[in-house]
Amino acid sequence: MSPSESKTSPLAALVGSLWGVGAERAAQLARLDIHNIEDLLLHCPRRYEDRRHFRKIAELTKDEPATARGTIVASGLRRFRGGDKSVFEIILDDGSARLHCRWWNLPFMQNYFAMGDEVFVYGKLSETKPRVMTHPETEVIEGGEESFIHINRIAPVYPLTDGLPQRWLRGLIWRTLERFVAASRESAANFPEWNAVEEKMAALSRVAATFPSRANAVRMIHFPEELTDVEIARRRLALDEFIELQVQIQKRRKKFESHAAALPCGGNNRLIKPFLARLGFKLTDAQTKVLREIRKDMGGAHPMRRLLQGDVGSGKTAVAACTALMALESGFNVALMAPTEILAEQHYTNFQRWFEPLEVKVELQTGNRKTSNIEHRTSNVQRTACANHATRNTQPSTLFIGTHALIESGFDLPKLGLVIIDEQHKFGVAQREQLVRKGRYPHLLVMTATPIPRTLGLTLYGDLEVSVIDELPGGRGQIKTFIRTADKLPKVWEFIREQLAAGRQAYVVYPRVEESGGKGLKAVTEEFENLKTLLAPFRVGLLHGRLKSREKDEVMTEFRAGGVNALLATSLIEVGVDVPNATVMLVENAEAFGLAQLHQLRGRIGRGAHESYCILVSDAETAGANERLKVLEETNDGFRIAETDLKLRGPGELLGQQQSGLPKFRFGNLADDLDLILQARELAAKMA
Ligand code: ADP
Ligand code: MG
Repeated sequence: MSPSESKTSPLAALVGSLWGVGAERAAQLARLDIHNIEDLLLHCPRRYEDRRHFRKIAELTKDEPATARGTIVASGLRRFRGGDKSVFEIILDDGSARLHCRWWNLPFMQNYFAMGDEVFVYGKLSETKPRVMTHPETEVIEGGEESFIHINRIAPVYPLTDGLPQRWLRGLIWRTLERFVAASRESAANFPEWNAVEEKMAALSRVAATFPSRANAVRMIHFPEELTDVEIARRRLALDEFIELQVQIQKRRKKFESHAAALPCGGNNRLIKPFLARLGFKLTDAQTKVLREIRKDMGGAHPMRRLLQGDVGSGKTAVAACTALMALESGFNVALMAPTEILAEQHYTNFQRWFEPLEVKVELQTGNRKTSNIEHRTSNVQRTACANHATRNTQPSTLFIGTHALIESGFDLPKLGLVIIDEQHKFGVAQREQLVRKGRYPHLLVMTATPIPRTLGLTLYGDLEVSVIDELPGGRGQIKTFIRTADKLPKVWEFIREQLAAGRQAYVVYPRVEESGGKGLKAVTEEFENLKTLLAPFRVGLLHGRLKSREKDEVMTEFRAGGVNALLATSLIEVGVDVPNATVMLVENAEAFGLAQLHQLRGRIGRGAHESYCILVSDAETAGANERLKVLEETNDGFRIAETDLKLRGPGELLGQQQSGLPKFRFGNLADDLDLILQARELAAKMA
């Protein structure tokens, strides 16, 4: 909110200005991130209690939580173990039966109840003879003129913090709604910024007709008349959140377009032609289609901002190479960033092999290895560039490959025409911004194999155009996926030995580097010795993040060359590694990984002509964990897998913690709200 708005809007007034909110309450509310009146009005209930209908105590069950009410007919505190431990109990009677409510080691609970009090209780039974609820949620029913807020209606139950009573907060929100929102139920009440949203929505009558007003939605989310109102209200408030975000995205886009001048990088095919002729395979139709989209951007009126999505193994690297060549042909330098050193090294090897015959220089810059001192050389080049505009003809254009070391301060490439970011989801959004800041706007191609569900794509990458490689190169063996329990491991090892004997290679993946905190997770360093014995005389290599770069390098080089038959690794190998002769991916403690991550790991195999086998070993006791893994057995479709992962584990897990750019939504739900996000985009375009 801008400062000028905050002066005029009652929404921005601090909660401390409300009647009955003193310093202590204000501090408690602040712990819930409620600072001003708008925060308070948007504090979303955690659940609702239908206090028009109660369950009889006699009908409560162990399976399903329900609300009952009764009168306290007995209560008592019992201490034991010398007073260290205690249990406090009240007994409620509603005429149908008695209910024992118990709290362990919370002796102060006795201060909240008195004999004869009427109490709401919510929970499920932990015992049936007698009927017991352990640590139920309760609320004493009080008379008085405000009692209608709490009873005989659907009552909201809010997230609380220590010392903040449910009843008090409910009362405060009710009074705040009455004062600010209820005055005009159909309009946006007293809030100028709500009015603005309302007017714009009304202009798009189709949308306005299907949603309640924002003011009404705020009322309904707290005090719905029917439980079905809650979802109607949530959708309206979620829509507003998505609109706010999309307006920001589109403003950023407009600003970019007004600042960033065209950068002619369309190329002239001088390098691409010989490159493709020598590549050894023909591009798939999908790769060609995507390259057409990219070429148009590279010669367009503004620098490219494009996200390239393609499932693991779809051939994004070849597309990146052609894109790089377009910029190089046009006389510009190119930077390619990868999230791990292993992947940067792999790209370095490939691109050197591809580009050296074309007389394009390829240089590597990781935290640990530099093939040239870029910073030093850069300043020279810049000096020359100032003195002499003909540098373009005398200095051959260069492809710089690196990890995040590439964006560390001080790195400043002259004539940077294109930045390619591989495995974009492993970088933070902030890092992406850092690379293209400084008032320079090179073309930007970000690539990802995590098939981001559309909701996330539009939220995180809303300012990027999207290209999809929706086809895998032909001539690949099938990947078969199996879920096995640990007792089947001897058979699995036997099978792996057969594959190694046939000349194939295998990955064995464990979740952690060292044994950690008794969770039973197998650890690679311990298992290494074990595995060497198991697979002898085949050679086993070890790869994890704590190794020195040189050691990682050596192991990968040997594995690539076939000198190492099986590679024991952490999920470090999840991104980008390409060894077509590897046909087995064994993942132990598979339940410790997300689905999208397992799909990436599986993507390391099935890259050659041979049949491949992905074996997921899991002894997870929870039924849910194995249910989750079944999705991988059923499908190899990365999009379906990512969507399931998003539903089951949420966006943070799907994208990894590094994705700092994801906005927090109070009401929006990225797993379900695709239709709202699309509407928000359309509305934002008309509002911006
Ligand atoms: P990803 O999209 O996962 O980054 P890569 O670019 O590593 O995939 O490509 C996977 C493998 O497929 C590589 O070995 C690559 O050389 C090969 N490849 C790429 N494009 C084609 C194609 N059109 N035909 C055959 N093989 C291809
Ligand atoms: Mg790749």
